[in-house]
Amino acid sequence: MTTTDAQRLAQDLAAQIDRHRGLYARGMPELVDADYDALEEELRALLAAHPELELADNPLERPWAPELVPGQTIRHSRPMLSLEKATSDAQLEAFCARFPGQSFTVTPKLDGISLAVAYRDGALEYVATRGDGRDGERMTDKARLVVLGLAQEVDLPGRVEVRGEAVMLQSVWAAYNEAHPDRPLTNPRNAAAGTLVHKSPEACVAEGRTLRFFAFDLDEPDLGDGDVSERLTRLGFEAPDVFPAADLDAVRAAIAEIASRRDGYDFGIDGAVVRLASRRAFVAAGANTAAPRGALAWKYPAEERETILRAVTWPVGKIGRVVPRAQVDPVFVGGTTVTYASLHNPRLVAERDIRVGDTVRIMRRGDVIPFISGSVRERRTGDEQPIVLPSVCPSCGTELVVRGTGEELWCENLQCPAQAVRRLIHWASRHAADMEGVGTTWIEKLADDGALERPSDFYALTAERLIGYERMGDTLATAMVASIDRSRRLGLRRALIGLAIPMASEGVAKRLCLAGFERLEEIAEASAEQLEAIRDIGPKVAQSISAYFGRPEVRDEIAALRAAGVDLDVRDEDRPVEAADAADTPLKGATVVVTGAFADPDSGAKVARPAVVRMLEQAGATSASSVSASTTILIAGDNVGAAKTDKAAKLGVEVVGQDQAWRWLAEAGLR
Ligand SMILES: [Zn+2]
Repeated sequence: MTTTDAQRLAQDLAAQIDRHRGLYARGMPELVDADYDALEEELRALLAAHPELELADNPLERPWAPELVPGQTIRHSRPMLSLEKATSDAQLEAFCARFPGQSFTVTPKLDGISLAVAYRDGALEYVATRGDGRDGERMTDKARLVVLGLAQEVDLPGRVEVRGEAVMLQSVWAAYNEAHPDRPLTNPRNAAAGTLVHKSPEACVAEGRTLRFFAFDLDEPDLGDGDVSERLTRLGFEAPDVFPAADLDAVRAAIAEIASRRDGYDFGIDGAVVRLASRRAFVAAGANTAAPRGALAWKYPAEERETILRAVTWPVGKIGRVVPRAQVDPVFVGGTTVTYASLHNPRLVAERDIRVGDTVRIMRRGDVIPFISGSVRERRTGDEQPIVLPSVCPSCGTELVVRGTGEELWCENLQCPAQAVRRLIHWASRHAADMEGVGTTWIEKLADDGALERPSDFYALTAERLIGYERMGDTLATAMVASIDRSRRLGLRRALIGLAIPMASEGVAKRLCLAGFERLEEIAEASAEQLEAIRDIGPKVAQSISAYFGRPEVRDEIAALRAAGVDLDVRDEDRPVEAADAADTPLKGATVVVTGAFADPDSGAKVARPAVVRMLEQAGATSASSVSASTTILIAGDNVGAAKTDKAAKLGVEVVGQDQAWRWLAEAGLR
């Protein structure tokens, strides 16, 4: 593979990883964990095989970053990092070997929502979700009501922060579903996420839809070396089981013990956390950009059960993908009863030779959609039927197109009714137009009735018109119209998300704004080549965006949105940093390439390259991903090979070390 091909592939993988992280964060994952992990693994391997590659925004180097709602965020006192994952004994052994002579603790890894709970002089100050790890979303008032076991005060002076996991107990989940058969919660983890963002926490509590908080981490002014769980319990928190483990063998035994207790717990677990027992040692071990070094998440293999495949249907997704959906005899796997499962894509259906009537293995890991991993050939009776792929869209009858390595089927008809409703729901969703007052059921009803066909139709709805519907009162109608009206302030980034352009993730929307596009129409006019020239937008994504905007009906819709007074222009917070105001340093106006590892000159803490690049840009520099004749300065951190600096020198590019770069940034007032 040439470097250019590898670079493209890496960017493509990074974009896919970002997209799936976004879907996961919103509680609608499309991939099972194993498939997602395979994407990360592929990117990791590619970067290892091509050390010359420079990925300006490498998702492997930063924690998961779901979109945050501005204004409701809070900067975490220290980053809330996810843990490094391990699935093999060799990884476990390597982890323990890193800390000779240290002992560990092993606890069940709860499958819930991570929360940071801060207290000041004993009183609850705030509750925040993990968010992107650096900034979390404030949840204080909601959490107070719906999260049981969250101490309202603690008997400790100064600033104290407790971290833990809010979960919906399986008994609570089952009781809720029993009482609400018309609107069941799919699984405890999604239910926990949904409860935390529910509009009415009071209604949740009244319906018995509550969460429980389990604490496992404590920051207090006087960091002792005692047992954290004991401290937490004494402060009034519930903590999960803790198994002390003096060495690797004891860690293995504890992991096995937790696995054996798994079915007895009233909460879902997806693994075990192995952590340095000493709090001082844990803090001293520090963290890299994505994970603390002193802890490891052991993942149990996915649960698997057998059942019978009864039928395969082909629903049409929001952006037109027609996916195989398996209907199976109900089976209890991974803490939930499964009746529908994913078959991934047509290629896997063919490769695994799965037939209707087969005994199939259903796998479920964590909270992802259960999927069929294979069929049991020995159980065949001869009556099994092959799965027939549709040739036309089951919703609109348009001939389907085969795309991608999974040989996925796509309906490319933008007027396809199945997609229209999903597009409308997506447009109204929190990450796009955020029409909080307009529920999914109403969108379906209005679409069914012909009142809504495309996003611009929302803006023509009036209270008078809505009141004509059964079960629609004055208050609801007024609230819906007000919510739609507020959403007119959309802005370019959210508009791009709302349009659900195939292959264009939320990250792509952000990058288009940073690339300097001011209006949606400018992006619609841009050619695939122009789009591809934008940092971290690969050729496939560029093609897809340009093909999308090439459709006449899309142009019409943009015009209709404008006519309805919807703001489709870039908002200030999405604009690139204003570099013109930066102080005069050699960085101002320079084209820089950043390579190697960076550390804060004062604390010695590792600084991720994207963060360095961002500071340089704020100082007025433009950054490029590789050295060329147009580069002004190569900023070389630690561990930079001679090949790179030699090439720069040959091209007459100035090479400076990180010390110089930090001095310039200080002169520019950036640190
Ligand atoms: Zn269709």
